[in-house]
Amino acid sequence: MDRFSIICPLLAIWVADQSANATNEAKKVRIDNLHCVYTYCLNNVDCRRTLLLEYFGEQYLSSQCKKYIATRCDNCCSVAQTKLIDFTILTKHIISLVDQLTKKLRSTTINQVIDILKGSKQKTIKDAGYDKLEQFNIAEEVSRINLERLLSKLILDGYLHQDISINDTYGTATAYIRVGKINTFPSPITLSVCLKKENPDVSSTISNNSIHNRLVDACLIKLKDELKLISSEYNIKYSTILSETALKQMALTMPRTKQEMLRKTVEMTTIKYDMYKLDRLLSITCLFGSKLDEEKREDLISGGLKRKREATTTTTTTTTSSYFQDKTNSNIKKKK
Ligand SMILES: [Zn+2]
Repeated sequence: MDRFSIICPLLAIWVADQSANATNEAKKVRIDNLHCVYTYCLNNVDCRRTLLLEYFGEQYLSSQCKKYIATRCDNCCSVAQTKLIDFTILTKHIISLVDQLTKKLRSTTINQVIDILKGSKQKTIKDAGYDKLEQFNIAEEVSRINLERLLSKLILDGYLHQDISINDTYGTATAYIRVGKINTFPSPITLSVCLKKENPDVSSTISNNSIHNRLVDACLIKLKDELKLISSEYNIKYSTILSETALKQMALTMPRTKQEMLRKTVEMTTIKYDMYKLDRLLSITCLFGSKLDEEKREDLISGGLKRKREATTTTTTTTTSSYFQDKTNSNIKKKK
């Protein structure tokens, strides 16, 4: 089942909606709108904010989105480098393939077209003789998701047309494609594809952890020293007031208020806190807590600068895949 089939039930409702006496034009607008959403969801490369605002006629640079790590969209988080590929030649092959299939079968689906383009080894493909077609395995190097994106774009741009067929008995919908009304190419058919994925910043995680551990250790030493001092003032062992485990708990959580300390340190009680004036321990956890905050802030800023530097080196180039540059049919790669 192709991904489009997933939204077909929704299409079935929209197409079959007679209650609002929807005209064919209105239905077409609805389907186009749904197709826009589908194309948006398929896009795993371009900045989500750019795509959304472009839809509403506004301009937004993805560099703006990349600027703030915490609020980056999923695509800006995962894509390090993109490349604009010219798919015009492949598009011509796709249109020709869809034309042949619809003439032979009267209908075809996105899934079937992609299977042929990708050189599927399915028995049905071989039995139907599709492995003998000129377009068989022509897009071996293009990922399935990018082919789906390309086909979706071709439908939106009018190069292909999608018909929704409703099964009256089951209320299910199937999407068929055929050649659309547009068959000229005033400008190249391009698609930005992901060249390099963003690596999770391991070094930053390690440094974050080591900063945290270092501060926890230092905080624990200070807490122990202070508790020893307090216990000596009362002539008791320091473990009588709090155990080593409780101190470790305190160092790890670095509470900032009395309530927080009571809540986060199991052995701590209000009586103990007031009796031994343990606000002296609180002042230590507050101090180390704010140090940790400061370190995290600096790390975030330096991480942001690092990402910003990387973002400026991110290249977006227009290239025709060498694979599709060859216009002679004799050189079209075919599966043997
Ligand atoms: Zn973004």
